[in-house]
Amino acid sequence: MRLEARSLSFSYGKRKVLEDISFSVSSGEALAILGRNGSGKTTLLRLILGFLRPEKGSLLIDGEDAALMKKKERAMQIAYIPQSSEIVYSYSVMDTVLMGRAPLLPLFGKPGKKDREKAEEILETLGIADLSMRVVNAISGGERQLVLIARALIQDARILLLDEPTSALDYSNQLLVMETTAKLKEKGYTIIFSTHNPEQALMNATDVMVLSESHISFHGKPKELLDGKVLEELYSRKLCIREIETGENRRIICVPR
Ligand code: ADP
Repeated sequence: MRLEARSLSFSYGKRKVLEDISFSVSSGEALAILGRNGSGKTTLLRLILGFLRPEKGSLLIDGEDAALMKKKERAMQIAYIPQSSEIVYSYSVMDTVLMGRAPLLPLFGKPGKKDREKAEEILETLGIADLSMRVVNAISGGERQLVLIARALIQDARILLLDEPTSALDYSNQLLVMETTAKLKEKGYTIIFSTHNPEQALMNATDVMVLSESHISFHGKPKELLDGKVLEELYSRKLCIREIETGENRRIICVPR
């Protein structure tokens, strides 16, 4: 499924936040959005979800204008995965995942046996089937992030939006969540994630987009960032970016000089 943004612009009142934003992401690709605090990453995700309306420009989902789609139809195409720290309630993992089914059920309808089976299957795929009856508040942040991914997957949407999916996670959980995202990309999902960690973008994205002063200041492949210029300007730091052989993979790493 292909998502295309054409010349999107958005302002909060008189404050212009995004101007002339164009990009596209296809099935099997992951677009990482980088940008300093306040550069408009969350606003862009909210525009894609339809929570905000662009002032100008349009969004196309497989060539169809998203503005003309019904809310439910749009929800069936695009799923949003918030930060795990935003979830503070005491439902079970199973019930949390089943919430993702809501847009597909009739009004006041309850999830049935098939929905439960589907939830179990997804939890199994993500390696967290044993957590099914645990309370969401009582599992680790990384596990909770996987539950939120499961909640998005049961929605049957093929476009996944992740807002800083690894913020507030320890290193091992960051890797777990990013590896899961990579698997979903390989399965053909269309992925967009925002991150404050340039290395995550370099390692996991097929394309990187940098937002700065309402515009896209860079859009290209991770390898195009190897000379350091774009990221040094973005973070106002001297950086050392290298491609290295890890034994199993080639990875791009980023450390301060
Ligand atoms: P990021 O996710 O990159 O940190 P945001 O999209 O949250 O950036 O915010 C972009 C800019 O828009 C910031 O200057 C922020 O203060 C402003 N902003 C965000 N939400 C609102 C809002 N609801 N009303 C007014 N201004 C907002």
